[in-house]
Amino acid sequence: MSFQGEVVLVTGASRGIGRAIAVQFAQEGARVAVHYCRNRSAAEETLSSLDGGPHALFQADLADPAATRALSDAVVSEMGEIHVLVNNAGIYEEHVISEIDFSEWQTAWDRTNKTNLIGPANLCYSVARHMIGNGGGRIVNVSSRGAFRGEPSAPAYGASKAGLNSMSQSLAQALAPHNVFVGVVAPGWVETDMTTEHLAGPDGDSIRGQSPMNRVARPDEIARAVVFLASSGIDYLTGCIIDANGASYLRT
Ligand code: NAP
Repeated sequence: MSFQGEVVLVTGASRGIGRAIAVQFAQEGARVAVHYCRNRSAAEETLSSLDGGPHALFQADLADPAATRALSDAVVSEMGEIHVLVNNAGIYEEHVISEIDFSEWQTAWDRTNKTNLIGPANLCYSVARHMIGNGGGRIVNVSSRGAFRGEPSAPAYGASKAGLNSMSQSLAQALAPHNVFVGVVAPGWVETDMTTEHLAGPDGDSIRGQSPMNRVARPDEIARAVVFLASSGIDYLTGCIIDANGASYLRT
């Protein structure tokens, strides 16, 4: 899985799964465009932990359509081109239907969809068109087990990830003739900032017990699946969704 000389844009690479993805691509020889939203110092830490290079930092709020376009343009202008796009950035915010008012409900749906679905769709637009012009590329989107299993406390999150799966599969069909291949990794619980509170709380043991391995995933395990899906020689896997959930939820 060599990415020598390739440019990989990883969104949400300031921490968690995105940081692990950036680290592994750099280990495989890629030059990484490390994207972040608010957390510049954490993104700088990611940058300084990467092998090889030169790598670079890019800021963008992906909920803003204009910012997604500017991000794609900035990476191309500074790093030359984009061979691989990883849409990893995302948010998980609870909005329990029986507890919140209508305006909070709307805000949660709006923010979640803009960040987890519309942002990746807009970034796919700009980057895929760049890839088409360059003769090809690969896109990997980070979804979630919640798209299949349900998210009772965060229905917009589950819906946004189901939308991301569907969009990825449609784009796999639309872009294959252009030599652009699209895959999805759908993790279950992973040890990151997004889950620290849940894993340390009273539900921690039952969450770990969802998998027969009696633990949640490490970010590097999810990163390994992302790097695999971005590698060459597996073009025919385009449109596939890899479940990375420790057999905690099996679908056929
Ligand atoms: P995390 O630790 O909370 O990090 C989230 C990342 O997304 C950060 O880099 C953050 O940037 C970025 N981000 C948040 N809002 C953004 C916005 N509006 N625009 C641009 N970037 C934004 O999350 P994680 O656990 O690593 O999750 C990474 C991906 O895996 C997400 O898509 C998540 O849904 C998915 N996932 C996670 C789990 C899990 O259990 N952790 C399970 C299934 C799927 P800043 O820090 O710079 O603000």
